Amino acid sequence: MASDTDAGSQSERKTAIHERHADAAETVVPEQLGLYIGGEWVESASGETFETRDPTTGEVLASVAAGNATDIDTAVAAATRAFERGALESPATREQLLETIADRIEGEQNAFARLDVLDNGKPITEAQADAYLAAQHFRYFADIVPDDEQTPVETGGSGRVTTVQEPYGVVGQIIPWNFPLLMAAWKLAPALAAGNTVVLKPAEQTPLSALKLMAEIDDELPDGVINVVTGFGPDAGEPLTTHPDVRKLAFTGSTAVGKQVMKNAAEDVTDVTLELGGKNPIVVYPDADMETAVQSTIIAIFYNTGECCSAGSRLFVHEEIKEDFLDRLVAAAEDLTIDDPLLDSTRLGPKVSQAQRDRTLSFVEKARDAGASILTGGDVPDDGALSDGCFVEPTLIADIDHDHEAVQKEIFGPVLEVFPWEEYGEMIELANDVEYGLASGVITSDIEQANRTARDLEAGTVWVNQYNDFPTGMPFGGYKQSGIGRERGRETLDHYTQTKSIDVSL
Ligand code: NAP
Ligand code: MG
Repeated sequence: MASDTDAGSQSERKTAIHERHADAAETVVPEQLGLYIGGEWVESASGETFETRDPTTGEVLASVAAGNATDIDTAVAAATRAFERGALESPATREQLLETIADRIEGEQNAFARLDVLDNGKPITEAQADAYLAAQHFRYFADIVPDDEQTPVETGGSGRVTTVQEPYGVVGQIIPWNFPLLMAAWKLAPALAAGNTVVLKPAEQTPLSALKLMAEIDDELPDGVINVVTGFGPDAGEPLTTHPDVRKLAFTGSTAVGKQVMKNAAEDVTDVTLELGGKNPIVVYPDADMETAVQSTIIAIFYNTGECCSAGSRLFVHEEIKEDFLDRLVAAAEDLTIDDPLLDSTRLGPKVSQAQRDRTLSFVEKARDAGASILTGGDVPDDGALSDGCFVEPTLIADIDHDHEAVQKEIFGPVLEVFPWEEYGEMIELANDVEYGLASGVITSDIEQANRTARDLEAGTVWVNQYNDFPTGMPFGGYKQSGIGRERGRETLDHYTQTKSIDVSL
């Protein structure tokens, strides 16, 4: 129970948090909150808006235009005109544009970081990393802008065959709320590098950094090359996925919506890439360096408050070291600072929304009902200063059946489930026994063992003795129902181009 003095200081801290956020909002929330179409800021066709909130304070940050099918039509038309007039035809223009975008993000790195803290609730140190990585991502694709040369191809025929990689035209991109700026960067950079024009639909919870990005680059961006339509999934997202003039779709979000996007894409045989989350295993061997194992696990599940598609959320720890390892892990989890995400010392901020907080807690509740042990956490923090926010304690769960819904489903919060193992084959079978296959971790000092395990795990990424590392250029994407295609790497350009063969009779 909090004493009177605790309650007093908590209420002072709460006031300080509200003031800090109000001050930050005044400086970083963008002025332009309309749709960005054809290089202009416009109201939505319906005139409607929606509110985006700060999940730390519960306060409204801004009212943003709510786009619908009419706005998507206008945006696709603007993107089509930009593509047809050859706005991105020259590789040099594309390289220059991507470098400029990187420069502008770098120049505003602190403001972008604070904006994503306000809109999403992520800790400021992580939001700084997002802004840094977003700029690097644009630079990476600036460096590998494909040329428009024809490449000779060896064939069995007598003619002269060359191939050329051509952009699709208008690309529709739909992104989630967990990395608002970085997900926009992951999507936009390769699409533009390949010469496509874009209509982007940000998530309703976190529309602000995409709008700020447009405001920052508006003077350099040819009209219609990027169009941003904020709004709700069914109203603004769905019409983008069914639009006949959109030639390629890229989506990141839930598996349920991803499946619908793919069905819609099938109507017009539109190419689609999907990044759909995961329920990712971490395997800890008895020979693991204990400190590496604990720190990697902490980063795996608590980075970005667990709101990572790559989050390591199922821990397979060997029986031999289980007790010692779990003691240390619980201590490390309890040591994480949950506080105002605008403070440098904060390691865990709030979840993005009340709905997401309640969803996380409901999974914990179901696990508890099924007789699972909650090793630590499992509730909202006992800290009055944070009571206006959507906070959830770092939570470790043991003694739960692997078939349980809380294990099989992506919780997308700071919740880790623990499974002791002894026999390798049984462990691998369980580690692979989910519908997802996005990422995974292996902690061991034996590299042979690491490689064997990496080969046996059904996952698009395997981190060894580390977790959530995203070096520029490393491809990222899912096996099984975690998605189709790879983002971040050179091969991503293949997803944004199509091959034309030119066969000349000599
Ligand atoms: P979601 O509904 O899949 O949202 C992702 C994006 O799709 C958002 O921009 C969303 O718009 C849009 N969308 C929603 N319905 C659509 C539709 N019918 N057609 C086209 N676009 C549509 O995900 P969520 O509801 O934000 O989160 C639910 C769960 O998804 C999370 O708890 C987590 O498990 C998973 N998730 C995964 C990732 C990932 O990185 N793979 C990211 C976020 C969430 P609105 O914002 O307007 O809904
Ligand atoms: Mg928000």
